[in-house]
Amino acid sequence: MLQSATAVNVSELPSMRQHVSAEEWEMRVNLAALYRISHHLGISDRINTHYSARVPGEETSMLLNPYGPLFDEITASSLVKLDGDGNKVDDGSYDVNPAGYIIHSAVLDARPDVNCVIHTHTMAAIAVSALKEGLLPLSQHSMQFYNRIGYHDYEGFALDSDERARMAENLGPHKVMMLRNHGTLIAGTSIADAFVTMDDLEKCCQSQLLAQAANSEIQLPPPEVCEHTAQQFQKFNTRGETDWEAYKRLLDRQGIVYAI
Ligand SMILES: [Zn+2]
Repeated sequence: MLQSATAVNVSELPSMRQHVSAEEWEMRVNLAALYRISHHLGISDRINTHYSARVPGEETSMLLNPYGPLFDEITASSLVKLDGDGNKVDDGSYDVNPAGYIIHSAVLDARPDVNCVIHTHTMAAIAVSALKEGLLPLSQHSMQFYNRIGYHDYEGFALDSDERARMAENLGPHKVMMLRNHGTLIAGTSIADAFVTMDDLEKCCQSQLLAQAANSEIQLPPPEVCEHTAQQFQKFNTRGETDWEAYKRLLDRQGIVYAI
């Protein structure tokens, strides 16, 4: 049985700040902020789905949300640290969703350049993941993913560790992957990078569905323009640091306490 965090207000958990490195604490604070901002944007699925971050200086350790709290309850201290085998580092911490470990470790193990992984179940993402043609380059937002997106066919709940290799292979060198009939997976070099990529991908999915629902012919730019725009995104990509700091200020203005 999973030891869920349902019986406890996780905001009342003892602070981990004095028990972890300054770098890990900073990563915990930013990952907790990511959960809170996602809640603000409506990108959540009750207590399901999960975001992870690699622990700085510890190649194989990751931080993941405890199984039970909603995204707007997550704090820096409530995040669960897992070792390279998916075991909790601290006995006192709560259990995590096992499918979360499978999905996130698949990416973090295979991609040393990735430090934050996001998995979403939004309605728009699920719908686009089920379309045979997948994500179309029909908007400026979506052209950044032109020929730069992976697809992973659905195999059932992600509880089989064998699936990790297939996920990593299908993601390849990309930042995003559509999990067919399921949702999205985003691999960022940092939490800020993963956040802006998630937000952009969500806009891509919503705008594509709106265009397709209009029952009119869709005009796509020619391939060379799509490729040119994708290269522009790569050239001018700021990794989202400015956007990220702006959203953290929004949390502060609203009095949302997560860095505890
Ligand atoms: Zn999922």
